[in-house]
Amino acid sequence: MDDLKGKVALVTGASRGLGEGAARELAARGASVMLVARDGAAVAAVAQGIGERAAAEALDVSDYAAVERVVGATRSRFGALDILVNNAGVIEPIAAIATSDPAAWARNIQINLIGAYNVVRAVLPGMLAGGAGTIIDVSSGAAYRPLEGWSAYCSGKAGLAMLTNAIALETAGQGIRVFGFSPGTIDTEMQVKIRASGMNVISKIPRGDLLPVAHAVRGLVYLCTPAADDLHGTDASMRDDAFRARIGL
Ligand code: NAP
Repeated sequence: MDDLKGKVALVTGASRGLGEGAARELAARGASVMLVARDGAAVAAVAQGIGERAAAEALDVSDYAAVERVVGATRSRFGALDILVNNAGVIEPIAAIATSDPAAWARNIQINLIGAYNVVRAVLPGMLAGGAGTIIDVSSGAAYRPLEGWSAYCSGKAGLAMLTNAIALETAGQGIRVFGFSPGTIDTEMQVKIRASGMNVISKIPRGDLLPVAHAVRGLVYLCTPAADDLHGTDASMRDDAFRARIGL
């Protein structure tokens, strides 16, 4: 299928897990894809495996100047950006609020919320100038439900859900499609860290009960297509039966 032929996508956190899967599928559907993560070697290896439609840059999304440079490099390499997959995220610190490390707590927000804002801030002027663009903020059930030991993660994802709403409000009528996307509990390295913590109910889910990354990739890439236009401004969730039915799962 080449329904995304000619589109240009930026995927953050593309070195593994959901971001890697999304980058691979976007490229398989015809898009040109810039993959970014802090580990430049890991993300370059994924891009190399995809081939000429992919490129990679080392990037920490919490560094706004670096984000701007990479967005510029993406434009120079592939042309104007059509799709942002705002996926980079960390679970740490997993700790009770009373004993948590303030610096680690702030670092989580710096990546999961401010990092996501940074990338939106850097891509949005170009999308608005072109009168089109798709932004997918990777959300979580944790945005809506507190879980013990995850105060930073839950707070950051809740903030990100509000950022998604704010983008929808401020760009209304200007050709921008924006979605939250909750992937469900999927089998990635993040879940390895969660299981190792032993903290809260999510850590007790056996690996065999986690959802495959490929299912979430299907949902995420569906949001990049016109079929999802009516979901603009919502948080599409893989836990939602109606959404799963729409994507054939
Ligand atoms: P993962 O396997 O740990 O992958 C996270 C990715 O983000 C990696 O590529 C990582 O690469 C990158 N990253 C982390 N910090 C970064 C930073 N400061 N700048 C740039 N890239 C950064 O996690 P995942 O499960 O695929 O998670 C992907 C997204 O889905 C996250 O937003 C997560 O919160 C969300 N989510 C996951 C689940 C789940 O069950 N797994 C459930 C709900 C939501 P580097 O470390 O090299 O930077």
